Amino acid sequence: MIGLISATAAGAAARDRLAAAWPDRTRVYEGPVGDAVRAAFAQCEQLVCFLATGAVVRLVAPLLSGKTADPGVVCVDEGGRFAVSLVGGHAGGANELAREVGELLGAEPVVTTATDAVGLPGLDTLGLPVEGDVAGVSRALLDGEAVALRAEVAWPLPPLPVAAEGSYTIRLTDRLVEAAEREVVLRPPSLVVGVGASKGAPVEEVLGLVEGALREAGLSAASVAELATVDAKAGEPGLVEAARRLGVPLVTYSAGELAGVDVPNPSDAPLAAVGTPSVAEAAALVRGGELLVPKRKSAARPAMATCAVVRRPGRGRLAVVGLGPGARDLLTPRAKAELRRASVLVGLDQYVDQIRDLLRPGTRILESGLGAEEERARTAVEEARRGRAVALIGSGDAGVYAMASPALAEASDDIDVVGVPGVTAALAAGAILGAPLGHDHVSISLSDLHTPWEVIERRVRAAAEADIVVTFYNPRSRGRDWQLPKALDILAEHRAPATPVGVVRNASRPDESARLTTLAALDPATVDMMTVVTVGNTATREIAGRMVTPRGYRWQEEPE
Ligand code: SAH
Repeated sequence: MIGLISATAAGAAARDRLAAAWPDRTRVYEGPVGDAVRAAFAQCEQLVCFLATGAVVRLVAPLLSGKTADPGVVCVDEGGRFAVSLVGGHAGGANELAREVGELLGAEPVVTTATDAVGLPGLDTLGLPVEGDVAGVSRALLDGEAVALRAEVAWPLPPLPVAAEGSYTIRLTDRLVEAAEREVVLRPPSLVVGVGASKGAPVEEVLGLVEGALREAGLSAASVAELATVDAKAGEPGLVEAARRLGVPLVTYSAGELAGVDVPNPSDAPLAAVGTPSVAEAAALVRGGELLVPKRKSAARPAMATCAVVRRPGRGRLAVVGLGPGARDLLTPRAKAELRRASVLVGLDQYVDQIRDLLRPGTRILESGLGAEEERARTAVEEARRGRAVALIGSGDAGVYAMASPALAEASDDIDVVGVPGVTAALAAGAILGAPLGHDHVSISLSDLHTPWEVIERRVRAAAEADIVVTFYNPRSRGRDWQLPKALDILAEHRAPATPVGVVRNASRPDESARLTTLAALDPATVDMMTVVTVGNTATREIAGRMVTPRGYRWQEEPE
């Protein structure tokens, strides 16, 4: 029995929803809250308190006897936003109850016991079909027992805390095997079945052919990623229905593309009918891979369907992730998800520190110091090429003066690349300064490490002449101190000495500082590599201590 206790009208409303959903499992305790909690604690296996955690802590503290005996206690806040597993997470079932309550009320379950909070991905949530002892192997992972990963196919899995040896196994295979005891079999979507069909080929004939081919080759239908055929057959009912029943998409290619694929068994019939000497083999092979089952025909006479099976190479995944300027709440949810999706993390050590707590156990971290940019980029791409899920991180936006370009310069089309944008320093600084970027603006890096100074100077001059707001990245370091004054001089040739200049150091980090000054008054010595400098255009003004660039040049006539 679950005892329900509430104090306020909002709490009572949520309580009643729970009671209505679980009439046989719940019992409402009315009356003074203290008495209600004490009575429920004595009489129920579990409690859901629509009360502040502090209040519940005080009330149940004197009643606790031990984690095997205490009831599980869940608290739901006044706003109904969180279901907190407070006491008895495991033995008392409060973790599970928090999840159930959360689901029912639309609240987020909050669970703090180690194994549940470490963020292990459930084996059934990896996005791959899974067979075998899911409960047993999950428990072993949670309990920290040795679980070995036997990957017969390279596939970009999220991190799993696996060991080289173990009494439990996770097997990643597309072969037709039964899961052994203490084993789960994960099915990567590694097989492509090329299919051809004459007009009106019955779905049973197509399916029978495909399933027979897979079975005889010792391959699992659960690993089929797609059926592939020629464009002309995109609407062939037998193929469409076969794909539907297999639960995979029917992918089609043009006859021209298929005709260009080198296949072992071309023939004249499809050439005459659809314009390619091979449909099944070519459609299966067109994206590369290993031909496991050459073209075969169905047993029906006349045979109306052909198929061929290919194992496509596991494609690694490279996520290029911008972490934002520093503050955790400026890290996007998508970036967070990609960090947890990756089994290998590559980045500068100081950026890794910024997000280390978000990584899942088992994530391999390849961190390096300043400088080794090219090497980091190469490492990330190499890891992805080995079929792994890699996240390459950078501060701000990873594409802005950062890792995305060296990485993508290395990458070939044999890996998938996903970019996650981040809040770049110019934007973080802009928000602190006010609205300096309200009109056309550029970012210019003053680092002449990779770019000759003449090029940089030409750009500064162009921005100066075009009256564009400029944000300087990499403005000044110990060894590079004359570039910023020089750049400001160039701007000053076209802008008044009183032009507002914003200087923001460590935007959104704990030691953030910002200053609003002018072109004439800026002291370059106060600027370092943690800083961006934003110089306004001729219309930029300081208004109430904020830097504001109007959206046009006619302050008075602006319609908005
Ligand atoms: N990819 C990063 C920029 C890397 S270049 C981004 O998108 O923000 C490094 C320069 O960025 C630094 O020298 C500094 O000028 C600027 N920078 C990065 N983070 C900053 C922050 N939090 N506050 C101020 N400037 C920052």
